[in-house]
Amino acid sequence: MDEMTGIDGCERRLARLLFADAYYTYSFDVTTGRILNEIVGSNGYNYTQAVTSESQCSFDEMVQRVLYKADSNVEFTIDSGMQELSCKALLRAFEKGKRRVEIKLHSKQPHAYHRLTYFLDADEETGHVMAYVLCQDITDTEKQWIRENSCARRELEDTESILSCAGVGTWHIQLLDNEKPVMTANGKMMELLGMSEEDLSGEELYERWYAGIKQSSLASVKESVGEMLAGEMSENTYVWVHPILGERYVRCGGTAQYVEGKGYILRGYHSDVTAMINSDMKHKQQLTDALEETKKQKMLLQQALDNYKQADYDRRRDFLTGLRNRQDMYELLQDNLLEKRDQITAMFMMDIDNFKMLNDHFGHVRGDECLRKIGEALKAYAKANDMYFYRYGGEEMLGISFGGTKTPDEIAQELVALIYDLQLQRNDVETGVVTVSLGYTSDNSHYEKMIDKADNAMYCAKSNGKNMAVCFEKMA
Ligand code: GH3
Ligand code: MG
Ligand code: MG
Repeated sequence: MDEMTGIDGCERRLARLLFADAYYTYSFDVTTGRILNEIVGSNGYNYTQAVTSESQCSFDEMVQRVLYKADSNVEFTIDSGMQELSCKALLRAFEKGKRRVEIKLHSKQPHAYHRLTYFLDADEETGHVMAYVLCQDITDTEKQWIRENSCARRELEDTESILSCAGVGTWHIQLLDNEKPVMTANGKMMELLGMSEEDLSGEELYERWYAGIKQSSLASVKESVGEMLAGEMSENTYVWVHPILGERYVRCGGTAQYVEGKGYILRGYHSDVTAMINSDMKHKQQLTDALEETKKQKMLLQQALDNYKQADYDRRRDFLTGLRNRQDMYELLQDNLLEKRDQITAMFMMDIDNFKMLNDHFGHVRGDECLRKIGEALKAYAKANDMYFYRYGGEEMLGISFGGTKTPDEIAQELVALIYDLQLQRNDVETGVVTVSLGYTSDNSHYEKMIDKADNAMYCAKSNGKNMAVCFEKMA
């Protein structure tokens, strides 16, 4: 044990070996601010002057004495570590349980970087807090680091400024040993986070940001930050709860509701910087919302159109037979579909023979059923032969032909056969099947005249024995 210094010589030598670039070691009583030991430099420099005054010695003074030999009035700045250089600050750190405090100093004249590592311990006898200090000249490594990192930093700064111009939010968190992470964010990011650009310190900003992370996301945030620090690039997804606007999704690298970003880590000499870029997905979200709305509107429109079509279809149909009704017929013949009207080649008036008999014998329900079946058959026939069939009256159907491949005569014969072939029983006489009488005309004149002619021809068919077709133009 060195009586003069209170530091074990072996320990000092060990320190020198461990820290090849160790410049000085010294110790002092933090409680009183007194330097205790002589200061030994690995370069052979000895400094024996102790602080005699019992008053608190400022770190500045001490650092001046230790590093700059007291005489040169060197100005230095603290680059990292403690915010304030004082024994009080060290005592506070000790009270918080810290046993190691690191600070980095930078002096411009002479141009040098030093790292001071304070190992804190309580003196058993006095109860005073003692600091054993290791001073390292880190100028060379620091310069090297600065050279290496300035490129990366410049790149980051360039990227950040480009991203800022593009309206992208950027932020990064500096994770310092034993210190709270410090966050920096650009204006856009502040806007995305819903924070005003009021002067928030890096720590406050970090705290606010961190406090906003949804409880359920915290574990995954910690995990992904851990992965990032371990050097594995990782996508970070978390839910951030805005204090006023409520929950919003902030997803990095994945799909995002409002904010999308990517996280990466810059490895630093002193600390690692987690950098995130976030893009505002508000506009994308708005577009998506608008698209959804349009889709919804389109669906509603389609629904309305379908409803209209159905209503229109219903309006034009005869409920019982499913054939077109007279309203539809008049729309075709009078107003609309002029083109279609111009193409009319023939009209057919069909009347069920002895229908009353069927009703009388089997009842009206069976009569209705018979009408329905005839309606079905006519519909199918109309579809296959470019025709329309209308329920003209109770058991009278009007057919309109628009050309097609068959002649009116052929159609007329087929229609009579079609109904006969349905073999709908009319009464209890076995041979009594439902038949129709058909009158038709192929004279393409005014529709009312055509109906009249077809009607006349139909009555002719009735009087000639029913179950037959008569052409008006061929009537005797
Ligand atoms: P014809 O051979 O001379 O045509 O004899 P018909 O019995 O068919 O003649 P008429 O015109 O006297 O009778 C038509 C019958 O058609 C009268 C009516 O009861 C029946 N009828 C009309 N519409 C319907 C209906 O919607 N359902 C039922 N079941 N019967 C109907
Ligand atoms: Mg009839
Ligand atoms: Mg009739």
